[in-house]
Amino acid sequence: MTENKPYRVLLYYKYVTIENPEEFAAEHRAFCIEHELKGRILIAKEGINGTVSGTVEQTNQYMEMMKNDPRFADMVYKIDEADEHAFPKMKVRARPELVTLRLEDDINPNELTGRHLSPKEFFEEMQDENTVVLDARNDYEYDLGHFRGAIKPDILNFRDLPQWVRDNKEMFEGKRVLTYCTGGIRCEKFSGWLVREGFKDVGQLHGGIATYGKDPEVQGELWDGQMYVFDERISVPINQKEHVIVGRDYFTGEPCERYVNCANPECNKKILASEESEHKHLRSCSHECRVHPRNRYVAEHNLTEEEVAERLQQLVTQ
Ligand SMILES: [Zn+2]
Repeated sequence: MTENKPYRVLLYYKYVTIENPEEFAAEHRAFCIEHELKGRILIAKEGINGTVSGTVEQTNQYMEMMKNDPRFADMVYKIDEADEHAFPKMKVRARPELVTLRLEDDINPNELTGRHLSPKEFFEEMQDENTVVLDARNDYEYDLGHFRGAIKPDILNFRDLPQWVRDNKEMFEGKRVLTYCTGGIRCEKFSGWLVREGFKDVGQLHGGIATYGKDPEVQGELWDGQMYVFDERISVPINQKEHVIVGRDYFTGEPCERYVNCANPECNKKILASEESEHKHLRSCSHECRVHPRNRYVAEHNLTEEEVAERLQQLVTQ
């Protein structure tokens, strides 16, 4: 890891009982603001999940403070170097769950979870023909990058994943099931659910894709595309050996790794689009979104009604 950039982005989680999430969140927020950190931290009775950016000194102070709390003393941080803050502000929220699975009968990953696999172990096991690799993230994350051959569940929200697995059980019959996600937190619970559901051999990528990309031995091998991240960077590279682009322009189908949000504020859908496609389609995913009265692209570019009509006409006639 190079040490010459002035900022760092930390990514971390820990499943551990926090008795008063609201109270803890208030104290935690005060510390973060005082130390000028920015990011997003979720606090629940079941633990903490966070990603923050700050200078090297600020992030060191944060990790030091957490280390002094026995509950978080052994928490693992994924650390990225950065040129600046990766978030516009600091948000610390108390929530009922760290990851939204809404299981009828919740899982405590400290009691029930899949085998933790190191990057090297995951790399080896995923190439076994008796293994099924299941992506435990959202569809737009998968579309930008994923492990080669991994299954993309046909769902809109992570909380729908258990039902999807039940509906597609034959896909996993007699197979070893490996799961992965960005930092590892979703898989802790989801792989536990798979074990409870009766799957015999369940493994999870320990530390998530973020750790896999930094591992000196595997160096992100067999990862295609980029990893979607929930901060202003949007995407980060993982595979240090080769870069295969799997993202496709929403409009043209051409290779593309550039995400924009649909300009209709009520849609806001993430779409992969080149600059050319963005302008041509008014950065909107559909005709309905292009003609929305509060279309942000139209406002940003001060387009008159005639100009919008002209662009729409061009889309029809081409
Ligand atoms: Zn849209």
